[in-house]
Amino acid sequence: MKFKYELYLLIILPIFLGCEVQSKTSDTPKSIILFIGDGMGVAQVTTAIMNNVGSNFMRFTNGGLILTASTNSWITDSAASATAISTGVNTYNKAIGVDADQNNLKLLVDYASEAGKSFGIITTSSITHATPAAFYSNNLWRNEEYDIALQLSESEVDVIIGGGFKYFLPENENGKRKDGRNLLNEMKDRKFSVVFDMEDLMSLDKGKTDKVVALLAYDAIDKEKNPSQKLADMTAAAIQILNKNENGFFLMVEGAQIDWKAHDNEYDKMLFQLEDFNEAIGVALDYAETDNELLILVTADHETGGLTLLQGGHGANEFKEQWSTHGHSGSSIPLLATGPGSHLFGGIMEIDELGRRIISIITDR
Ligand SMILES: [Zn+2]
Repeated sequence: MKFKYELYLLIILPIFLGCEVQSKTSDTPKSIILFIGDGMGVAQVTTAIMNNVGSNFMRFTNGGLILTASTNSWITDSAASATAISTGVNTYNKAIGVDADQNNLKLLVDYASEAGKSFGIITTSSITHATPAAFYSNNLWRNEEYDIALQLSESEVDVIIGGGFKYFLPENENGKRKDGRNLLNEMKDRKFSVVFDMEDLMSLDKGKTDKVVALLAYDAIDKEKNPSQKLADMTAAAIQILNKNENGFFLMVEGAQIDWKAHDNEYDKMLFQLEDFNEAIGVALDYAETDNELLILVTADHETGGLTLLQGGHGANEFKEQWSTHGHSGSSIPLLATGPGSHLFGGIMEIDELGRRIISIITDR
């Protein structure tokens, strides 16, 4: 009888333990890449796919819709929305990392660094613009970009890729800072590699680099003028630097100018930006095939332009675009997810709930 019981344990215990280990790794990702297509509503994703510049949007296994209202408006802006994602707390339009009562909030970079994870941000805008800023900065007002730059230079963000070096350099050194500080030199002292063009970013020894600040333009990045400034290449470079951390990483990648072209009601230029964004998503999805502990999320911060896709283009199989505003609209935005933990990102939820779910994953492991 005793022998039989031990035999039973011998068979059952490893199966039980095996299940435990397996459920931990399959449910809780070690790393997260979050893509934010600024201004990218459901119509923007639809037309990208139909015009063959959005194939990677089709590669996700889970998804839902996000309601974007802020605390003071049903029509949000990038600052309130990115703050909700970064902190799990809804706030007022133009707020960066502060709540509706203007108190500083704990940011995603804080949660990640407490969990021992590396942190990266990439944008095609200036790196101090509202969306990236909400992930590392507390500020009552999104336009304080010189102060936001200072906070970034002192933050726990490890990989910084975008435009806007004017916010980091003094006036006598190609910048616009009035306090005379050269924040990039200060970051060099904190072991950052500093680069100013794609060539230098791509040739950087990623195996030996832990911290990089790549500021590729005076202001925003302009891929129409500089075709080598591909969001896909920036994403690949960031992953190679961040994935050395055995505790994992969080990376936010923003396609900032989908929003700008939609503000201008420039349909073809918006598709060009969506294509750039789609290619970057493809890099992450391809990488995920080699790393089964990576969760990839794609969402937006709000819809821009009130875009409607009508019949009556040049042929029956084309859309005729119709814009209803040069501003943002209140339409819900898409949420796509794939990888471990992606089942948590289905259904319809408010944007601060999206933030809380991301934070719960980061603090869980
Ligand atoms: Zn906008």
